[in-house]
Amino acid sequence: MGTTRQMDRARVRTAGRGVLVFQLLALATVAAVAAVTVDDARWDVPRLLVLATLTIVSAFWSIEIGSQRVKVSGSGLGLMLGVVLLGGSPAALLGAVMILVSWLQTREQAHSLRNNLLVYSGLMLAGGLWFRAAVHVLHSGPHRLDYYLLAFGTFVVLEALNFVTVVGYQCFLDRSSLLVQAREVFLPVLSAELFSVALTAGTLFVTIEIGTIGLALCGIVLVIFQFLIGELLTSKRRSEALQRIAKTDELTGLANRERFRIRLSDRVVAAKADEATFGVMLIDLDRFKEVNDTLGHHYGDQLLRELGPRLVECVGPGGLVARLGGDEFGVLPPPSASDPEAIEQLAHRLVARAQEPIVVEEMTLQVGASVGIAHFPTDGDDANTLLRRADIAMYSAKDGHHGVKVYEPETDHHSVRRLSVISDFRRALERDELVVHYQPIVDVRGAEVRGAEGLVRWEHPELGLLPPAAFIAPVEQTGLIGPLTRHVLERSIAQCSQWRANGQDLSVAVNLSVRNLLDPNLPVQISNLLDSYHLPADRLQLEITESMIMSDPERALQIVGRLSDLGVRLSVDDFGTGYSSLANLKRLPIDELKIDRSFVSPMMQDESDLIIVRSTINLGHDLGLKVIAEGVEDELTLKRLATLGCDLAQGYHLSRPLAPDAFTDWIADNVTAAAA
Ligand code: C2E
Ligand code: CA
Ligand code: CA
Repeated sequence: MGTTRQMDRARVRTAGRGVLVFQLLALATVAAVAAVTVDDARWDVPRLLVLATLTIVSAFWSIEIGSQRVKVSGSGLGLMLGVVLLGGSPAALLGAVMILVSWLQTREQAHSLRNNLLVYSGLMLAGGLWFRAAVHVLHSGPHRLDYYLLAFGTFVVLEALNFVTVVGYQCFLDRSSLLVQAREVFLPVLSAELFSVALTAGTLFVTIEIGTIGLALCGIVLVIFQFLIGELLTSKRRSEALQRIAKTDELTGLANRERFRIRLSDRVVAAKADEATFGVMLIDLDRFKEVNDTLGHHYGDQLLRELGPRLVECVGPGGLVARLGGDEFGVLPPPSASDPEAIEQLAHRLVARAQEPIVVEEMTLQVGASVGIAHFPTDGDDANTLLRRADIAMYSAKDGHHGVKVYEPETDHHSVRRLSVISDFRRALERDELVVHYQPIVDVRGAEVRGAEGLVRWEHPELGLLPPAAFIAPVEQTGLIGPLTRHVLERSIAQCSQWRANGQDLSVAVNLSVRNLLDPNLPVQISNLLDSYHLPADRLQLEITESMIMSDPERALQIVGRLSDLGVRLSVDDFGTGYSSLANLKRLPIDELKIDRSFVSPMMQDESDLIIVRSTINLGHDLGLKVIAEGVEDELTLKRLATLGCDLAQGYHLSRPLAPDAFTDWIADNVTAAAA
């Protein structure tokens, strides 16, 4: 039989004065009863010593089980033998000694020590007195079967009471349910416990028949047996934990990539056998990186943890949601949603669910989601192909801001094999495959061209012209964003200088990346480029986002300050999408706010976007900044921006980004048009 004894750490309720008074009173009562009944005991010193050794050795070999830091050891076996062989007071004394000795090992808090003292001395005392009385009433005695049955029954009851009082106290403190604890802590060891109790009854028999030598021998066997059970339970627990880790994602508790792959393969096999169809989805969060960069990993992690159960609930029973890594999730819809229409509906529900705000420590966060779907067997008849194609669909959904996208073979050749981007990209730099397109920026009122934003593209030898969304993110993760930015800067500065030489006094805007803002060499490099192309510093505009500052504000602000000292102008790009505050904005030496296109493009259809655009224009002006609206897609929007007092505009309505020659033609046409 084992004993349980808790060590408490994190808990809800504190053991207050009431508990202290109760514990002290109860302990005093136990001591008084022990003193009064001390004569009713057999003080057999050799047996007492053997039992003390047994209990104390066992106490040191205890193991922890369950989530409650409950300990199981064989010391109870010795105590219960004491109850029957010696009587109440010696057993209580043994219990108290055992608890005090093992306290040296655990150093648990005083109130837990008192509780354990009370349980072990009180229960043993009561058990001893009860056993004596029962033997007396039944006229039983050693060498008789009913004597051993009575002992066995007493042991079982004591064991149960021991559990209830020790774990019950823990439950009282942390307000948890004793029933749940019984299932979690007690059930797994129940059979071993009962067997130990039977062994203890056997030890009792041997002791009575052979004497103290028999007790010592059996004691050794008991201690060894209990040690083996401990080892067994520990290794069982370890292997369960390993299995869990191997198949679940630690952060969210969802299935991990491995489990998802296995389930998907199983599903493929089953579907082939039944000639059934099904779909698989990959979900990637939008703007998650921003939460992570701006607010830190703690918020990002918390967001993922909150999101997991939402997705699971949305998918419903029979389906599987897994976290495949980072902010990417995989979904296997339940068999009830196996036709394309049902799968697409589910995907839209998932996007909507992911978009609902999540509150993390009083901060309301909102992310978006892009979903890619691949169907078995049309898009692939093995797990790998299905996953790859769902991935392609997901990226295409992300690029086009579609939300949900079903795999289409045509998108396949557009999608860059993401893994090879890095090695391909080195070559792109060497072979000059990067080009910069320019999108005009015009004065809202006079519609005169004021400058252009340089936007990078990759002329991939096999995949054709790639947009930045296809390669910037992986390039950012390597050290190659530095060379990319330098390349775009040099092209743009050279180009701007050329325009000026042709009589057009334009400026050029270049996008910076987070890593650029942490590079102390950037200001010097920019200064050298401006010098060598003879471009006045104020003709160069650098676009940064609020979130770039937040990853390492001190360093970033220092570099931003040095850039501003060069005379270069700074604008805050994608304004309105970040999580930083106006207080942060105030610290930046900026000249311009660029309202994000997600507010501008729909502002004539959506009242709330219009309000945001209007207030941002006013805010910018109040702070002494110029305001530019990007994503102007029609004449109506442009007119409205003019009445709202916006300074500059950029968007497809004016022109798409153009290759350098096309840009020169565009300017010629527009200047002619304006002059005519
Ligand atoms: P961004 O800085 O917000 O650039 C504007 C993007 O909006 C461009 O996409 C442009 O083509 C697009 N756009 C312009 N007018 C409209 C419009 O009326 N409607 C819509 N729907 N879109 C419009 P692009 O060229 O694909 O660039 C995407 C993003 O890639 C940029 O967003 C920027 O964050 C990044 N990027 C581009 N070039 C560079 C670069 O040289 N360095 C770095 N670090 N990032 C770059
Ligand atoms: Ca930009
Ligand atoms: Ca932008």
